[in-house]
Amino acid sequence: MGGVGMPEAVWKACAEYLVAANPSLSLYSMLTMGACHLLHAYGKGELLEQMLSRLVTGEWGGTMCLTEPIAGSDVGALRTKAIPQDDGTYRIVGQKIWISSGDHDLCDNIVHTVLARIEGDPAGTEGISIFAVPKILVDEDGKILGANDVQCAGLEHKMGIRGSATCTMQFGDNNQCVGYLLGAPRSGMAIMFEMMNAARLEVGLQGLAVSSTAYRHAARYAQDRIQGQNPEDRNGPGVAIIHHADVKRMLLKLKSHTEAMRSLTLLAAGAQDRAAHGEKIHRQRYTHLLDFLIPLVKATNTDLAWDLTGEAIQIYGGYGFCTEYPMEQMARDCKIFSIYEGTNGIQSMDLLMRKILLNKDFQCLNAFRDFCVTETALFEDKELAASFMKKLNHLLTSVKKLGQELQEGPPNKVLAKAVPLQKAIRYFSLGLMQAMALDRLTKAKGRFDGLSREFIEGRKASAKYFLEFEFPAYELALSQVNADGNLISRCEPDTFR
Ligand SMILES: Cc1cc2nc3c(=O)[nH]c(=O)nc-3n(C[C@H](O)[C@H](O)[C@H](O)COP(=O)(O)OP(=O)(O)OC[C@H]3O[C@@H](n4cnc5c(N)ncnc54)[C@H](O)[C@@H]3O)c2cc1C
Repeated sequence: MGGVGMPEAVWKACAEYLVAANPSLSLYSMLTMGACHLLHAYGKGELLEQMLSRLVTGEWGGTMCLTEPIAGSDVGALRTKAIPQDDGTYRIVGQKIWISSGDHDLCDNIVHTVLARIEGDPAGTEGISIFAVPKILVDEDGKILGANDVQCAGLEHKMGIRGSATCTMQFGDNNQCVGYLLGAPRSGMAIMFEMMNAARLEVGLQGLAVSSTAYRHAARYAQDRIQGQNPEDRNGPGVAIIHHADVKRMLLKLKSHTEAMRSLTLLAAGAQDRAAHGEKIHRQRYTHLLDFLIPLVKATNTDLAWDLTGEAIQIYGGYGFCTEYPMEQMARDCKIFSIYEGTNGIQSMDLLMRKILLNKDFQCLNAFRDFCVTETALFEDKELAASFMKKLNHLLTSVKKLGQELQEGPPNKVLAKAVPLQKAIRYFSLGLMQAMALDRLTKAKGRFDGLSREFIEGRKASAKYFLEFEFPAYELALSQVNADGNLISRCEPDTFR
């Protein structure tokens, strides 16, 4: 298709810098890359190849149009229609809301990938097809034919990512909107899921990038801001806040979380590479591991981004709340990450149901378990390895119990515990990432070419801090998984009067 054929893991490591520099701006290229993958895999014929060639170079941009006023998380409720034409194209009619990069003048043309229902197809997700709808129509030779019947009806005024144009898009107000079918009719949801899986990892990366930037800014600020004395030298000079124990605690929270999030994100990206290009006998296993990790990375990194940017504001004190410093923007920018590309509640249900309880032979969970067992077996510290194995067994026992509850009773009782389960797996995984880092650093005995002693000691301190101070969150989340879900699911709306 183009590009340098870089492994996904290398790309993710680089892309963190791009997203960190400007999450709003990076969205434009993220959506364009998604559209490229779609057209590459499902676009047939010279015209779509022509469009793809322009998207790949960045001359044109792409979007992903799912959401409608009555179809948010419930994509199957969408009403946008596709009417077949004699020439094999479709007329698209409908409205899409909150479309990122929906309209702008950063590039010459925009190719919208639009979910719509071909007239007469069944209701729900099974009746959905997907179309490429260019803003400006071109022919097979790239000659411009004129504007398509697609209009931006308005821009959203948002809490954050204000540099990203979030648009209401009208398709076919004059019944002249031309769309080109991608893939087979009624396979739109499956196709969009492929794109969304990649996009969910990208959104996870957004959470990591903003958290990591917030940490870096806060660490720098804490070195410069002088407040108070060292409690062990009350009459001494004023000290930078980085010397205060509570500020160190907050910085360690930021540092240790972002490092563990980065490891988890790159683990998923590595699984993506191995699933697609690894040795044939291992591909299936990595596909299952990737499937398991996608909702986990998305929910983990994006929930934590909101939490960690809040903590970074706290490190700044009052200045963190003021617009002259970048913290408040980071907090505002990152809130959307836990909402778009499927809310984190929906991600947690995906993990609980599709990836665990309803997954054939528990293949995804087993792939994750096998990864954990293999890694902990390598630990030099056998006590640490044993404690992880014990925690893993507790987790698997709780999952089994959830499976029984699902068979015996109403699903809502189990669904009420989707987020607690996701959080238990989150803390288990982040803890494992830190334990793996500690193990590698200890074994290397300081032999790391090009890395300073301070960096290695800082990395070890952060791993140890995480295992002592943050990892216990796993036990809390697991106790919620084992609690009675009916206490939540049986609450009537009147409870909230
Ligand atoms: C800035 C921005 C950019 C966006 N960009 C795009 C884009 O480019 N393309 C696009 O198509 N869309 C985009 N969206 C839309 C976004 O994907 C949706 O907002 C998101 O999917 C959630 O839908 P909703 O807002 O309608 O919330 P709702 O679906 O109404 O959900 C509200 C709450 O109810 C919960 N909920 C909903 N259904 C269930 C259920 N079955 N079980 C349990 N809980 C449930 C949710 O988790 C959430 O907490 C964007 C939105 C924003 C704000």
